[in-house]
Amino acid sequence: MIVTIMDGCTGCGACEAINPDVFHIDSTAHVDSSKIPGNEQDCIDAALICPVNAIWVEDI
Ligand code: SF4
Repeated sequence: MIVTIMDGCTGCGACEAINPDVFHIDSTAHVDSSKIPGNEQDCIDAALICPVNAIWVEDI
């Protein structure tokens, strides 16, 4: 799975609240790709809850 933060992230922190291992906020969200395995559902949930649809999840 590939998780990408797109333009438009407001740094609201909602994704980090769902999974602070994968998502880190530093004015905008950043993804620690090494933490995605085993946390795929949290990545999908974060993408669904992101208020500006800034999380792109690609299931490869
Ligand atoms: S939930 Fe969306 S807008 Fe909020 S910090 Fe995460 S990526 Fe950015």
